[in-house]
Amino acid sequence: MSRRLSAQLRSFLIQRPSTTRPVLCTSRVLVSSQRSFSVSRAQRLMETSGFTDEQLTVREAISKICSNFPDEYWLEHDQQEKYPHELHAALAKDGWIGIALPEELGGAGLGISEATMMLQTISESGAGMAGAQSIHANVYATQPVAKFGTKKQLQRMLPRLISGEARACFGVTEPNTGLETLKLRTIAKKDGDSYSISGQKIWISSAQVATKMILLARTTPPEEVKKPSEGLSLFFIDFDKSQPGLELKRIKKMGGRAVDANEVFFDNYRISADSLIGSEGQGFKIVLHGMNAERCLLAGEALGLGYAALKRASAYAKDRIVFGRPIGQNQAIQHPLAEAYMHLEAAKLATYHAARLYDQSTHDPNITQHAVGVACNSAKYLAAEAAFKACERSVLSMGGMGYAAEYHVERYLRECFVPRIAPVSREMIMNFVGEKVLGLPRSY
Ligand SMILES: Cc1cc2nc3c(=O)[nH]c(=O)nc-3n(C[C@H](O)[C@H](O)[C@H](O)COP(=O)(O)OP(=O)(O)OC[C@H]3O[C@@H](n4cnc5c(N)ncnc54)[C@H](O)[C@@H]3O)c2cc1C
Repeated sequence: MSRRLSAQLRSFLIQRPSTTRPVLCTSRVLVSSQRSFSVSRAQRLMETSGFTDEQLTVREAISKICSNFPDEYWLEHDQQEKYPHELHAALAKDGWIGIALPEELGGAGLGISEATMMLQTISESGAGMAGAQSIHANVYATQPVAKFGTKKQLQRMLPRLISGEARACFGVTEPNTGLETLKLRTIAKKDGDSYSISGQKIWISSAQVATKMILLARTTPPEEVKKPSEGLSLFFIDFDKSQPGLELKRIKKMGGRAVDANEVFFDNYRISADSLIGSEGQGFKIVLHGMNAERCLLAGEALGLGYAALKRASAYAKDRIVFGRPIGQNQAIQHPLAEAYMHLEAAKLATYHAARLYDQSTHDPNITQHAVGVACNSAKYLAAEAAFKACERSVLSMGGMGYAAEYHVERYLRECFVPRIAPVSREMIMNFVGEKVLGLPRSY
């Protein structure tokens, strides 16, 4: 465990007897019986029984950091499309970026179970997808690097990400191939002790601020590979916009506007040959390791948004008086919120089950990658749908104020489309489960 983080965790564990639930910081919430934009406090909703001490400690420590970034911070950053550098810096300062990276590299040596809790807590604080996306590629996309990189590469690549001096983005999606990852066209051509990259990526989050990219590119043309899953390679590259052959174009988007999304154009962009992670041609298998972790983190982020929305909606429904009684006394308001809560709790179980399987599979050969894949995909699907239900019902329960930016739930609703679409869509998860679990004919 890194010295910085271990001190942090130790101090939390000492302060908190393991049998009692931690007292979590509550963020500010905008509710008022006067129906003006004032503030009062509300409790977090998620049931925390059954989590490990480590997960609860992470939740408590991250809540504390996030309490310095209230909803108003995220509202302003969303509206002005301003990057949340301060949150990234605060998390890096205490060592949290390396939560699931090895201790010998300065990480905390914890797992995806704890990292999922971290990302959920960030999202749940009101930071939503924007807050989570400001760090999450550094957490999940580094997993395959840590597993398949050489010792020398790890020492060169990861400590600076953990300390926050460097930042990574994840470059997989392409405009012409979409979800058909095996058809990627961006080419990495070996030339002596370097590769030359040409092609285009799209939707790359945080590319404007990143100085590194974890890139999936083609090293063998599709017609020359034995299996479609071969021919792609994974690289950890310098992402240096001052060098020739690299250009970005920002994409205007619906939500999470504090964090940039970009088209990235490579035109004979040079990278050193020792940027290659693992064997050439095996990049797809290698990157899957990070993709399952990413699904868990996204599931956690979705849950966070859902709980944050329900917290606001239920506080509002308690206070808002129409026809002489709180609107929350009407079952037409109460029941949809209660149902959304139960869906979130069910998705929470699926999410932390998937994260646990992911972590255990690293040392238990009885847990297959198939089982991990099914659990992580299912969790991401269920959490994203539960979050959507919670956000939509929260907006509707709050009437006109649900639509007002200053009540924040409209922002949560806009953001909760991301885990429904990315990193893999709802339809592709159902295709996967239909084929790989139910044994139905492949539909795509
Ligand atoms: C905010 C945001 C941030 C992102 N950040 C990153 C990032 O940092 N790095 C990165 O690499 N990518 C990123 N992505 C990309 C994301 O992973 C993709 O958008 C996602 O994988 C979907 O791919 P696509 O947009 O090309 O959809 P397409 O492949 O064009 O699919 C469009 C629709 O058709 C459906 N569809 C396609 N084929 C089938 C089929 N056979 N059966 C049923 N339905 C089908 C899909 O489910 C989807 O609904 C981000 C996306 C967003 C929106």
